Amino acid sequence: MANAGIQSDAAVAVIDDRVVAVGSQLELERRYPDAERVDCHGGVLMPGLVDSHTHAIFGRARYEEQEQRAAGADYLAIAAAGGGIHASVRDLRQRSEDDLAALAESRVRRLASYGTTTVEIKSGYGLSLDDELKMLRVAARLARTLPLRIVPTWLGAHEIPLDFRQRRDGRRAYIDLLVHEVLPRVAAERLAVFADVFCEPGVFTVAESREILEAARRAGLGLKMHADELAAAGGAELAAALEATSADHLAAISGAGITALAHASTVATLLPGTMLFLGKALQAPARALIEAGAAVALATDFNPGTSPTVNFPLILTLGVSQLRLSAAESVVAATVNGAAALGLAGETGQLAPGYSADLALFAAEDIREVPYWYGDRRCLATWVRGKACHQFDLPVA
Ligand SMILES: [Zn+2]
Repeated sequence: MANAGIQSDAAVAVIDDRVVAVGSQLELERRYPDAERVDCHGGVLMPGLVDSHTHAIFGRARYEEQEQRAAGADYLAIAAAGGGIHASVRDLRQRSEDDLAALAESRVRRLASYGTTTVEIKSGYGLSLDDELKMLRVAARLARTLPLRIVPTWLGAHEIPLDFRQRRDGRRAYIDLLVHEVLPRVAAERLAVFADVFCEPGVFTVAESREILEAARRAGLGLKMHADELAAAGGAELAAALEATSADHLAAISGAGITALAHASTVATLLPGTMLFLGKALQAPARALIEAGAAVALATDFNPGTSPTVNFPLILTLGVSQLRLSAAESVVAATVNGAAALGLAGETGQLAPGYSADLALFAAEDIREVPYWYGDRRCLATWVRGKACHQFDLPVA
């Protein structure tokens, strides 16, 4: 991860949707004399950022909870006051597919404006058959209408909905609904690439998570997990045992969890923006994960409750300042390893022959400036599959 493969005076040759060569500008100009040229003005051209963990489809923002937390309310107090995930569920269930698609489109365009070219989007604010399908149909619509690469994930196991929590057999009934009614529809309509489970004490146990994920695997979906965010409860170990594509959050991961991920193909996806926004001092042990041999990715966790940011370069800043990554490691975590966290390691996240031409241009003379100018929008342009996705004319000094 420490070697980002940086080249100077370089150019990238693209034919149709593919990178065909990366190397010296002089040599590529000789090799492709008739090519249309795009001048990058000496900026940093890198693979488009791959945001492998977002909840970008939601209705209203939950800004009131930020003040409640500042005043000392914890997760349970906010939930008791009608806030948290249940508030997003209530809101989303009342909205039409058109309404949600319009909100999500504008939010995903804002993600793209910071240099992101691939966005994973989870369901999980529906928590009923119809509302989960509605969310995933919105994701499918975004994939058709937006120039970005969108990867949909079914997160029916985000929370146990209140109507089921109030029933004595509610946990079992909700898991049965997920496995026997929602999952078969999601798979049959090909609405998701991955299934994800929120495995934390008080939400889904390790045994329940295993049951849901094994059913999802039998239905042909890839596996992801929300694991060990609040407590080390064996989530990372389960992700490793299932060879899930990624285990995400991990702020509270145990030593055994680190060892398990280091010996599995599962990517450890860290979300430092969430811990920052929640005002927590705790951050995932990124250095210990890397030193043990795990692949570490970074993502925004863009969502209305705990990480309302569309600014992926800001997450790279936190990668350096909070997780103690080098600038190169944070860029690799947000590109190469982000792609691996979506099963796209051979397709996007690298500038190399054969890869999709998913590029981001930053107003910077050194890659270290991408995390350095924190909070600034230095992205000048992005391309996805060789086509312009987002363009600014902002000469930035
Ligand atoms: Zn999440």
